[in-house]
Amino acid sequence: MNLNERPLRGDMFPPVTVLKGIGSKIMEHLQRLQIHTVQDLLFHLPIRYQDRTQVRAIGTLKPGDECVLIGTVEHSETVYRKRRMLLASVSDGTGRILLRFFYFSRAQSDNLASGASIRCFGEVRRGVRGLEMVHPEYEVQPERTVIKLEDHLTPIYPTTEGLHQIVLRRLTTQALKWLDGEKLPELDLLPVPPDIDGQQVSIIEALKFVHRPPPEANTLALAGGTHLMQRRLAFEELLAQRLSLFKLRLKIQKQPAVSITHPGSLFASLVERLEFELTKAQQRVIKAVFADLQNPYPMLRLVQGDVGSGKTLIAIAACLQVIEAGYQAVVMAPTEILAEQHVQVFSNWLAPLGVQLAWLSGSMKAARSNEMKDQIANGQAQAVVGTHALFQQGVTFRDLALVVVDEQHRFGVHQRLALREKGIQGALHPHQLIMTATPIPRTLAMTAYADLDYSVIDELPPGRKPVGTIAVPRERRHEVVARVASACRRGQQAYWVCTLVEESEAMQCKAAEDVYRELGSMLQDVRVGLVHGRMKGKEKNAVMQGFANRETDLLVATTVIEVGVDVPNASLMIIENAERLGLAQLHQLRGRVGRGGQDSSCVLLFSPPLTENAKLRIDTMRGTTNGFDIAKVDLEIRGPGEVLGTRQTGMLQLRIADILRDQDLIPDVQECAKQLFTEHPERVDALIDRWLGRSMEFGQV
Ligand code: ADP
Ligand code: MG
Repeated sequence: MNLNERPLRGDMFPPVTVLKGIGSKIMEHLQRLQIHTVQDLLFHLPIRYQDRTQVRAIGTLKPGDECVLIGTVEHSETVYRKRRMLLASVSDGTGRILLRFFYFSRAQSDNLASGASIRCFGEVRRGVRGLEMVHPEYEVQPERTVIKLEDHLTPIYPTTEGLHQIVLRRLTTQALKWLDGEKLPELDLLPVPPDIDGQQVSIIEALKFVHRPPPEANTLALAGGTHLMQRRLAFEELLAQRLSLFKLRLKIQKQPAVSITHPGSLFASLVERLEFELTKAQQRVIKAVFADLQNPYPMLRLVQGDVGSGKTLIAIAACLQVIEAGYQAVVMAPTEILAEQHVQVFSNWLAPLGVQLAWLSGSMKAARSNEMKDQIANGQAQAVVGTHALFQQGVTFRDLALVVVDEQHRFGVHQRLALREKGIQGALHPHQLIMTATPIPRTLAMTAYADLDYSVIDELPPGRKPVGTIAVPRERRHEVVARVASACRRGQQAYWVCTLVEESEAMQCKAAEDVYRELGSMLQDVRVGLVHGRMKGKEKNAVMQGFANRETDLLVATTVIEVGVDVPNASLMIIENAERLGLAQLHQLRGRVGRGGQDSSCVLLFSPPLTENAKLRIDTMRGTTNGFDIAKVDLEIRGPGEVLGTRQTGMLQLRIADILRDQDLIPDVQECAKQLFTEHPERVDALIDRWLGRSMEFGQV
């Protein structure tokens, strides 16, 4: 069959109902798992395995083992501790293990009487009296029966409530048999099997192996997801992921946008006024942005730069460029505080150039906000600043040509897509510039953000000094208070950041208020300010402005100041309960100091004892100020789904691949993606459909 003759779609595979034993109840469950066709079932991959292929000697067991064992019940009894339970002690001559049941019938306790010979499967744990299994699967064996073991490792599939593993196993067994009969060439969508670890494996071979690994398979590799056969499938999944983002990008590039070809004189006159030189990295990124803006299709660029690398200027440069051409630009920040900061910075830099600025915030009075909306609608406002609520407030632009999204790590991928769509007014699609301080390895970024162009500001403005960081246990908090007091008396400014266990914002604000009162009464000669998320926008702004103008020395704050706040004279930061914060958040917070020329420091106050991860986080913060190094550790601790904010959105929820673990496959995946796109475009949809199926529909938002 010639593959090029017809479009290949998942729905050309027979429906799962061709398999035996699927009633309406099971069908419902399968649908919940997005399994509609035989192919869907074949690509429903195990998440782990059990080894029921051999009987283990009890004497060789360790806690954590999951295994089959055979033995004789030496003693069994029903006991009443906190609750009723059945205990059976089983021996096989090499050792002894205790079986513990909390739920059991009369028949079960009779069956497990002493002398019974049994076979069971379960997880070995360490109990008070030695090794035990809680609620193992078991069967009582009549003497001398030949025990039938499995002839392959037992797959455990992702499932949904009410759908038993046994059913999934039965169905996949049939699907695999069916595969043998049909020898479907459609399954091999790649022109040649990719070369992985020096070997070429067909997709059929990989599927068979991964669903039913032979007993001699390397279980360690399988458990870690690094087996050749798993990597073969991971390769294809990463490929499908990349192709789908690629398609999304092509679709966007077919949309019309204004091409901005002006010389950039507005920005040039801003640069003349700056009291510093742009860094090389800033110049390079601005050049790339200006080149993007010349295209008649929307720019989609992600700019990643560590905290303090000067991303705001990139945003301003892009805005000035479209404003010079007679269009409007909007800058969106994730928090009101950051939006207010941008308003300050933008008006300082834009006013002398005669650029009209408007802003919108949730807490603005109606009259004021209507006035702003009018200016935006009639085009009087050239640059607009606000939170992402901007697009929910019925704002119409006259000529919007650019959307800048700042500190994107606060927005998930899904929101990014939604924002992109909401910015569209009329026929033209705005250019989009996304800025993030979350530094991630390049290969990872290229996978996660394959729909975007990507630039890195890999240089900090000169003269920055790393922030000296120490960790201090809570019982020495008074010493820290004294240190803050003396720093403030010497004319320095400090942040005191309050965090709490409770997620509730109200509690966090309460804690900040308490600390504010406490420090205010302890340090009479220090001017203390307070800012938290429950204050009105105006109030917050006044406090921040007061701190920026050095009217207060010490600012007690919740993590609202985490993102973007820029007060260069602040050189000391105390973070309470630092052990509870993630690395990305600690790094962001610490980035608020060390922005001026003076030496800065950060004190991480913690309550012992520290968990292993908390210790790793605090040690990392003490050891480095490099955002990339910090991100690497963060990725190891939390995984890419959390770090990239993709977990909640369903995007990058991979079945078998792991973008961190399988990073080394990415260059070949990219090569293969290119080749497929140019040489076999008809196979692209089939691959996307196979791996992403209906979950891709959000891409059409
Ligand atoms: P971030 O990348 O964290 O958003 P900002 O844009 O807020 O960083 O910049 C941090 C500080 O560095 C600001 O005070 C800004 O004025 C200053 N800055 C930006 N670029 C330069 C530069 N090239 N040289 C010196 N200072 C700079
Ligand atoms: Mg910033």
